[in-house]
Amino acid sequence: MKRIVVLPERVKDMAAAVDSCPFAALYIEAGVLKASEECTACGLCGVVDVVDDAIAEVDLSMWRGIAVFCELAEGKMAPVSRELLGKGRELADKLSWPLYAVVLGADAAAAADEVARYGADQVYLYEHESLRHFLIEPYTALLADFAGEVKPSVMLFGATNPGRSLAPRLAARLKTGLTADCTVLDIRDDGQLVQIRPAFGGNIMAQIVTPAHRPQLATVRYKVFSAPEPSETPTAEIIHREVDQALLSSGIEVHRVIPAGKEKGIQDAKVLIVAGRGVKDKAGIAILRELAGELGGVLAGTRPLIEAGLFEQRDQIGLSGRTVAPELIITCGVSGSVQFVAGMKNAACIVAINKDRAAPIFNVAHYSLVGDLYEIVPALLQEIREGRA
Ligand SMILES: Cc1cc2nc3c(=O)[nH]c(=O)nc-3n(C[C@H](O)[C@H](O)[C@H](O)COP(=O)(O)OP(=O)(O)OC[C@H]3O[C@@H](n4cnc5c(N)ncnc54)[C@H](O)[C@@H]3O)c2cc1C
Repeated sequence: MKRIVVLPERVKDMAAAVDSCPFAALYIEAGVLKASEECTACGLCGVVDVVDDAIAEVDLSMWRGIAVFCELAEGKMAPVSRELLGKGRELADKLSWPLYAVVLGADAAAAADEVARYGADQVYLYEHESLRHFLIEPYTALLADFAGEVKPSVMLFGATNPGRSLAPRLAARLKTGLTADCTVLDIRDDGQLVQIRPAFGGNIMAQIVTPAHRPQLATVRYKVFSAPEPSETPTAEIIHREVDQALLSSGIEVHRVIPAGKEKGIQDAKVLIVAGRGVKDKAGIAILRELAGELGGVLAGTRPLIEAGLFEQRDQIGLSGRTVAPELIITCGVSGSVQFVAGMKNAACIVAINKDRAAPIFNVAHYSLVGDLYEIVPALLQEIREGRA
């Protein structure tokens, strides 16, 4: 529990401290300076601090191993969970730690078998009819039960809708830290997970650690890490966990589940053609669509184009959009802001078209085409068509 306390070693002049408080929260009682409930720990007096009693209670050496919450979608492992198992294995190997996968679901034996091919040492399977659909209360309760029992030092979640609601709730339940949307994860020799993510609108890459609490929770978006190749047969031990009925209660009743469309999004495309603000009109988009058609690619946009209503939100690449890692990405009239680049820098081949030679997109591009996209794209189309003919 957190408490505000007056630190006697900092008190030089009690009366001056009382006068300095804008909330009139400091008072002297029997010759001792004290802080009342009005104190906000604003720090102006220089004599109070916030003390977290929980810090002293956590024995970090008890927490060991990396756990990945393996989310199931229609009975199959979500693609981001595969990527997290790959990263989890890498982190676990650095410290010779075990890698755990946690699977919750109904009739989930086949899914657990699939999970067991992606490098985990043990798959913890919680199987119950009540877990068929994602329900926040039982999922949180069972993961808290798992954390308490197994004591993994790190727990990783996909930044999907379930992952984004589950991880913060679990962090609050376990009184620990969580970093959302990490783009880089590393682990120090002392077991500190270094969680790196863009902050302040993408202008800095913050390194976040959880020095005194366990487990260390992080969410990661789809396509930030690459998925390992599965082994031919399951290699992990599958541990069937007894599901405590008391942990299954929920105030939510699922009446009907409407499956999401099977349409492939920009994250699954091998080739992406991206329109930026340099694309001035629908005619510009039409030539990019032709290019996408020729290359079997999909169109995407920068945020200004989404805001202008030219693309759907789901087609936005970047910090506040989606992360992509296609084999080929061709950006057309995109400046290359940090927020945009954060979502596409892992593409295998980046081709940038921009008429400004100094545009930052050229810093990440493998091939830079300096010029007017309204001339370059038609010329490219002609080359491709002639080449094929
Ligand atoms: C918190 C936060 C989150 C954000 N998240 C995102 C995000 O997820 N995705 C995102 O895209 N943005 C995001 N942004 C916005 C971002 O900062 C930029 O404003 C945006 O990426 C710029 O888009 P753009 O490159 O299309 O436009 P501009 O920066 O205006 O660049 C247009 C480029 O087109 C070039 N050009 C113009 N005409 C031509 C032509 N005829 N031929 C060739 N080149 C031409 C210009 O030289 C220029 O470089 C975010 C901003 C904030 C603060």
